[in-house]
Amino acid sequence: MTPKFKIGDNVFMARYDKVENFVTCPDCGGSKRIRVLLHDDTEISIACGGCDPGGYEPPTGRIKQYAYTVFASPYTVTGVKITSDDVSYELNNFGGAAYWSADKKDLFATVPEAVACGEIQKLAHEADENKRLMAKTKDAKSWAWNATYHRQCIKRLERDLEYHRSKVQICAAKANKEKAA
Ligand SMILES: [Zn+2]
Repeated sequence: MTPKFKIGDNVFMARYDKVENFVTCPDCGGSKRIRVLLHDDTEISIACGGCDPGGYEPPTGRIKQYAYTVFASPYTVTGVKITSDDVSYELNNFGGAAYWSADKKDLFATVPEAVACGEIQKLAHEADENKRLMAKTKDAKSWAWNATYHRQCIKRLERDLEYHRSKVQICAAKANKEKAA
């Protein structure tokens, strides 16, 4: 592998700021309660399980999500490590506390290139993080609930369209199967 940069080069790597935000609960629409129809058509109102934070806390009507903002951070190459199939770099290793390393694919000569790469990686970060947040209460939820969640994400995050649509289709199919069983 041929190194893209040499010692002393100024390079840029994408980094992320994580911002916590809240979206309206897709189950109760923020009302904190949902209505359930029993077999004899009795309608009851129960605390929403979708936005229930667990423990003794009541439902909040909101669900926590994370969004990332991308920025390009400047570094100086202080070392180049070449192996048979890859190149990695030591960054800002001037003998002090600062020490970073990076793969060839994550370093760029310009800010716009680093940010463009970061924007792509950001989507994966966000989807993964938010999936984990939703998964915390997953065992208490039906496949139909998941379909509702993924449908809402389609509206909110157009850029995640393909991913969430596939999830909705899977959830809807499972819900139908369970209903039929
Ligand atoms: Zn709710």
